[in-house]
Amino acid sequence: MHIAVVGTGIVGVCTAAWLQRDGHRVSFVDPRDAGEACSFGNAGSLSPSACLPVGMPGMWKQVPKWLADPLGPLTVRWAYLPRALPWLLRFLRHSSRDEVVRIATAMRQLLVPIFDSYGPLVEHAGAAHLVRRSGCLYVYSSQQAAARWAWGMKLRRSLGVELREVGQDELEAMEPDLRGAFRFGLLAPENGSTPDPSALVKALHAQCLRDGAEHVRATVQGFDRQGRRVRALRLAGGEPLAVDGVVVAAGAWSGPLARQLGARVPLETQRGYHVTVGSSNLGLRHTVMALEHNLMVNPMAMGLRLAGSVEFAGLRAPPQYARADVLLHKGRQLFPHLDTSRTTQWMGHRPCLPDSLPVIGAAPAVDNAWLGFGHGHVGMCGGASTGRELAALVAGRAPQVDLQPFRPQRFSGLF
Ligand SMILES: Cc1cc2nc3c(=O)[nH]c(=O)nc-3n(C[C@H](O)[C@H](O)[C@H](O)COP(=O)(O)OP(=O)(O)OC[C@H]3O[C@@H](n4cnc5c(N)ncnc54)[C@H](O)[C@@H]3O)c2cc1C
Repeated sequence: MHIAVVGTGIVGVCTAAWLQRDGHRVSFVDPRDAGEACSFGNAGSLSPSACLPVGMPGMWKQVPKWLADPLGPLTVRWAYLPRALPWLLRFLRHSSRDEVVRIATAMRQLLVPIFDSYGPLVEHAGAAHLVRRSGCLYVYSSQQAAARWAWGMKLRRSLGVELREVGQDELEAMEPDLRGAFRFGLLAPENGSTPDPSALVKALHAQCLRDGAEHVRATVQGFDRQGRRVRALRLAGGEPLAVDGVVVAAGAWSGPLARQLGARVPLETQRGYHVTVGSSNLGLRHTVMALEHNLMVNPMAMGLRLAGSVEFAGLRAPPQYARADVLLHKGRQLFPHLDTSRTTQWMGHRPCLPDSLPVIGAAPAVDNAWLGFGHGHVGMCGGASTGRELAALVAGRAPQVDLQPFRPQRFSGLF
């Protein structure tokens, strides 16, 4: 079939690569270069352990703080609150213990095959060096401090995540740069990361082009349909693109397109920030999650990346780089010897659903469209397995993951 893949972020390019392996002809449709939106500047962690939702039990107690502190780790801009409120209420509803167990169980199924589903793609693209299994350290100021996250860690373990306790001496021997602020850690040895998320997307996209895909530089506005079939994509300022099928993988911008295909999904964006310290003199080898500081630190090809922050302000508001300054400030506190003479800042739009699960499945209103978006904080982790599952659906094969929890219709009736 000739399949259009809308979006050239990590989800779109992985889906295209898996579709090509089944012999389909792919047209990417995206006005931007590959890997330039949210997949550009994320923290690059590839973590089978990252199965917990963002909304955790007891989170509702934090709501007043979110509203009061514009530079806190999670904020809602006042002007955006009326828009975000229904979504936030749902998000809190999905943060009960039962819901968190259900969500983590589903997400873990998608994340266990991270490396199996990236493996063949990066090998084929000559990009195996862009996926490394370097492990992740969850670090804390003390073992007592770690107790705050104990329930979630226990849940992770119950789902098969390997987590090994690391005392102060071993921690400092493993990562001398952590000396001072951190005295206890949990090592997730199976985790990995990419040294350059955008380069990973671009390498997979370039291989797809070498394998015969084309990249139509246009914004998809809608679909020409005949009964239950999409016949063509309507492109802004261009001729319609005739297709046999379409996959919508347009990240945080997927909502209006999905709606036209029968899926009304409450897609919101959690804007996140990074500071990349190009002049970093640290020698970190692991991805470091400093949960007390809401900070992820990853050594990358272009420097040390400090990433985090959740801001509800929609798709249009300009970035508030004071939030990136906060990340840098934390970095300086935690690593006083860090050379921060050269830094860059970035903001990206995470595509988020209130249950922290992506949408992966067939579009309800037509027979030849599929949806893959909403991966929130774990799109790099889940991109390749999502692509593999979508390719299975397109081919009519049984998926390897139970896709029920990810079905696009799961929000129906709640509007
Ligand atoms: C600060 C930060 C840190 C993060 N850290 C991690 C991490 O460590 N690990 C991890 O797994 N995830 C992380 N994430 C999340 C991850 O970056 C995202 O989940 C992922 O990049 C989403 O990929 P995507 O392909 O769905 O969307 P995107 O990369 O945003 O791509 C969407 C594409 O669709 C195109 N598009 C949109 N609308 C249209 C249209 N109408 N027509 C045509 N094209 C269209 C856009 O131009 C864009 O190229 C982080 C995010 C942030 C912000």
